[in-house]
Amino acid sequence: MLTGSSSFPGFRALSVEERRRRIAEIAGLEGGALTRALETGGLDEGGAEQMVEDALGRLAVPFGVGLHFRINGRDFLAPMVIEEPSVIAAASHAAKRIRAGGGFMAETDPSIMIAQIEVHGVRDAARALTRLREATAELIAAANRAIPSLVERGGGARDLAVRDLGEGFVVTHVHVDCCDAMGANTVNTVAEALGDRVAELADGELGLRILSNYCDRRCTRVTARVPVAAFGDDTTDGPEAARGVALASRFAELDPYRAATHNKGIMNGVDAVVLATGNDWRAVEAGAHAFAARSGRYAPLATWRLVDEGTQLEGRIELPMALGTVGGALRAHDGARLALAMSGADNAAELGQLAAAAGLACNLAALRALATEGIQKGHMALHRRALAEPCGPVAP
Ligand code: NAD
Repeated sequence: MLTGSSSFPGFRALSVEERRRRIAEIAGLEGGALTRALETGGLDEGGAEQMVEDALGRLAVPFGVGLHFRINGRDFLAPMVIEEPSVIAAASHAAKRIRAGGGFMAETDPSIMIAQIEVHGVRDAARALTRLREATAELIAAANRAIPSLVERGGGARDLAVRDLGEGFVVTHVHVDCCDAMGANTVNTVAEALGDRVAELADGELGLRILSNYCDRRCTRVTARVPVAAFGDDTTDGPEAARGVALASRFAELDPYRAATHNKGIMNGVDAVVLATGNDWRAVEAGAHAFAARSGRYAPLATWRLVDEGTQLEGRIELPMALGTVGGALRAHDGARLALAMSGADNAAELGQLAAAAGLACNLAALRALATEGIQKGHMALHRRALAEPCGPVAP
């Protein structure tokens, strides 16, 4: 939990060293911690060697902070790692507008990941499904024996689902509550432990045993409201800009070509937080896009509507969020651990809410710009700054 507010003026005018000091103060971190960790990009060569094979070194990417985030009445700092100019500034700016409307409201499902055990060559699929369903208690007990440390922490296998895919393919899903872990390795352990018994019950040949990244039982939902009257600026009328955002949302709902770009803008914010905190952004991307296509038609992950007789602009985002605040890359990566400590998120659910809120903020900023002056003006100004200073990252 942060010890200070994530909302304050004048941050951009500070030097990098002053910014680090200020953020450390708010996050309750020891003074020089950020400076020391960031001198190596958060990862030294030994750490890189520990993390991957055939390492040559490390490749630096800018690390910044999204300000003004308030979620469920509590302040957060959004650690963001991203190479694209304007994303961090846009996230902060939109979070500030949303803060004026009371901040983000968020809720998260339990941390349920899905272990898939696939069996093929099944001659009688109906019989296989019945036998697997009847063995639910046995299979859940076997799953929990494979992951005793997670069970000790209050997690573990919760349920079983079986599906007939046709062509002799039967797939068994084990739903595992992974608590504060992302859960891929944990769930893969479960899938492998149960494989032989599942194939025996289905009377087929054992196939793949691995998690599904389409973790649709582990979704995060975030909503935000912006008072339309406060949505204007020197050049744009508030109600007009808000109407433009609502229309842009409808466009994405009606057109998968637009929805893909709409969602890319959302993932600018989501991925930046996911990467900063050492989480698996490919897993989050895979889950997000599978979820976006769940109706059979690719759709926007976030939508905006004018509500309360047009006085409020209300946004809503929902997406699967498989994040960990323990395990994975966090074990070896000092910078990611520091980013997590700086965020104010105390568990995986809160971190997922922060990532989703950053995604919704980026979406609002992009739609507002697109619906008013276009994005090129601001984007290219920041891009030119980046090109003019090729020796280092450009702060917002
Ligand atoms: P992990 O293997 O580090 O396991 C998490 C560990 O943390 C467990 O041993 C658990 O007991 C322990 N733990 C401590 N405190 C906990 C708490 N409060 N809640 C839950 N567990 C707690 O990590 P993981 O999360 O199982 O796997 C994540 C890693 O797997 C990521 O690095 C990811 O990139 C990788 N991975 C991903 C895929 C995929 O997405 N398709 C496939 C394979 C591996």
